[in-house]
Amino acid sequence: MKQINIIQGDITQLDVTAIVNAANPSLLGGGGVDGAIHRAAGPELLAECRTLHGCPVGGAKLTQGYRLPAQYVIHTPGPVWQGGKNNEPQLLRNSYVNSLRVAEEHGCATVAFPAISTGVYHYPLEEATKIALQTVNDFLANSQVVTEVTMVCYNVTAYRVYKNTARLLPFNE
Ligand code: ADP
Repeated sequence: MKQINIIQGDITQLDVTAIVNAANPSLLGGGGVDGAIHRAAGPELLAECRTLHGCPVGGAKLTQGYRLPAQYVIHTPGPVWQGGKNNEPQLLRNSYVNSLRVAEEHGCATVAFPAISTGVYHYPLEEATKIALQTVNDFLANSQVVTEVTMVCYNVTAYRVYKNTARLLPFNE
């Protein structure tokens, strides 16, 4: 059975095989969920990130989870919203797909995502949510490895948008 869960909460607390970090291309830490993940994982995470030499927008790279309950962190820089005409939808899709590919390569059965690009990168929440849910759903249908994906909404606004968008898509949570 494949499953998509939508929850409100703090991604750093989740006991899944891998959590995804909405990183920036330097992979050297930042604010928002990136800052929260680095604080919770401890300084070893930044030390490993330094060895990765950054990541292009839409790409994904894996590290250990260190002090997190999650075994791994998959770091993906989403696109900065620049009005929508700079390939933002494709780049956001790439962030989800490439994160899931990396999860698959490392045998991760359970993966959790934040709402990539919807914080300081200003991607409109409803548009980003459609891409997130559609992309994850399509990937799960074809994966032999990833069986459960949890979409983690940090605040109630995002939670409501995710729940409403899920109802409009051709799948059931
Ligand atoms: P980006 O630069 O990709 O926009 P942000 O970290 O600014 O990344 O925001 C991405 C999303 O992560 C936002 O919806 C924000 O509310 C959410 N977020 C912030 N902290 C956490 C957390 N601890 N767990 C889950 N989501 C979080």
